[in-house]
Amino acid sequence: MRIPCAYANWKMNKTLKEALEYVYKFVPALFRSVKEDTLGVAIFAPSPYIWPIRQELGDNSPVFLGGQDLYTEKDGAYTGAVSGQMLRSVGATHVLVGHSERRHVMGEDNATVAKKLKRAIADRLVPVLCVGELLRDRESGHTKDVVTEQLVTAWEGHEVTGGALLAYEPVWAIGTGKNAEPGDAQSMCKWIRSWVAERFTPETAASVRILYGGSVSPENIVHYAKLADVDGALVGGAGLDPDKFLVIAKAIAARGGG
Ligand code: PEP
Repeated sequence: MRIPCAYANWKMNKTLKEALEYVYKFVPALFRSVKEDTLGVAIFAPSPYIWPIRQELGDNSPVFLGGQDLYTEKDGAYTGAVSGQMLRSVGATHVLVGHSERRHVMGEDNATVAKKLKRAIADRLVPVLCVGELLRDRESGHTKDVVTEQLVTAWEGHEVTGGALLAYEPVWAIGTGKNAEPGDAQSMCKWIRSWVAERFTPETAASVRILYGGSVSPENIVHYAKLADVDGALVGGAGLDPDKFLVIAKAIAARGGG
């Protein structure tokens, strides 16, 4: 059974005070109406906020904390970089790998994403591997080629997924207000699941959680929450507002396990 997930990516936003106020408001409100074991909730906070948020939540909180990125290496002379071990030591359990802003704003290629995925697994973080096509890829009919390349290179040399989740996030839908048609999100997530079945095993495909991301909102989440192969959402803009993320998280929890 796949527990659905509501994951918020705060990106480079909020002061520490705002981050803590969000948590005080959102977490009790969510678990007043949603049972802890029916929803996976994660907040991908800016790295300096992970420890203070963890302190507030406590170690047994049902809310996971994640890093938005990690460096390819374990440790060393890499000024400014944040390692997987550092993320773990401040209370993160998850990490985004290959988010579209890392790929397309910071210029990370598939080989770098692959190294980060390996690093995350080695550092015992749950990776959320983000894949998705640019508008020009979609318009030229290359969506599946691009996503296949991202998936193949990420897992080169791996025999197991390492407990990773996948997030299908078409780049043109991220932060634009132009969410993918739910039917398109379903067909891409179904296709990604079939790729996992071929590359790994049918059992892995049946259990891997695949999220949709791209302009998810309190208004449109109901359409995604119904889809058979979409196990929840990775939410950027709407995840910055605790009231909006609450509506989204409740709608995802209401879908039940897949
Ligand atoms: C994201 O950052 O992963 C994302 C999906 O952003 P938004 O919801 O704002 O499109």
